[in-house]
Amino acid sequence: MLIIGPPGSGKGTQAERISERLGVVAISTGDIFRQNVRDMTELGVEAKKYMDNGDFVPDSVTNKMVRDRLGQDDVKDGFLLDGYPRTTAQVTELDDILASNDQRLDVVLQLTADDEELVKRLLGRAKETGRSDDNETVIRHRLDLYHQQTEAVVTKYAEHGILAKVDGIGAIDEVTDRVMAAIESATAEAAQ
Ligand code: AMP
Repeated sequence: MLIIGPPGSGKGTQAERISERLGVVAISTGDIFRQNVRDMTELGVEAKKYMDNGDFVPDSVTNKMVRDRLGQDDVKDGFLLDGYPRTTAQVTELDDILASNDQRLDVVLQLTADDEELVKRLLGRAKETGRSDDNETVIRHRLDLYHQQTEAVVTKYAEHGILAKVDGIGAIDEVTDRVMAAIESATAEAAQ
C-alpha cells in the first residue's frame, strides 16, 4: 500500500494508525532520512543538503535506500510506504522493485488538502517540533514540488485503477475513519 499527500496532509500520522490497525509495516522515507541526519551517516549528510531547502533528495540516492529497505524480511507480507514514490522515475523504480520481489500494489491512498490550510498547519508544526524544513519559504517550495511532480505520480496510479482519494481536512480520528473505509472498499473492489 502507498500513502501519498502534500506536506502537512497528515500522511505520517495516518500511516502510523493504518500500521497499528492492519498490522502492516509502515515505512516513511522522510523518517529514514531524518534518522540518518541525526546519526550523521553518509546518507544523512547527503540528504540534509536537499531536505533543508525542501528539495527532493536525488532519485539515485532515494531509490537505492528504498530498494534496500524493501529487501528486508519484515516487509515480505506487505508494507505501507509513506512519502515514496514522489517522482515518475521513482514509480518506475518501485515497479521494478515490486516485480523482483514478486509483489504488487493493492491500494494507493491520496490524502487531499487545500494549500493555504497546509501552510497554516505546517507553520503550527514548526513551532512544536522545530523541523528545519518547516519555514514558510521552504513549505511553499515543498508544496510546489508536490504539484509539479507528485501529482503526476497520483495520475499514474489513478490510470491503473488503484487510487483511493481521501479528504485530509478534519479531526485526526475523522480522517482515520475515512482512510480505513477507503482501504476497505478499495480492497473489496480488488477482490471482486
Ligand atoms: P517528508 O517527511 O515525507 O515530508 O519528507 C521530508 C523530506 O525528505 C522531503 O522534503 C525530501 O527532502 C526528503 N524525501 C522524503 N521522501 C523522498 C522521496 N521519495 N524522494 C526525494 N526526497 C524525499
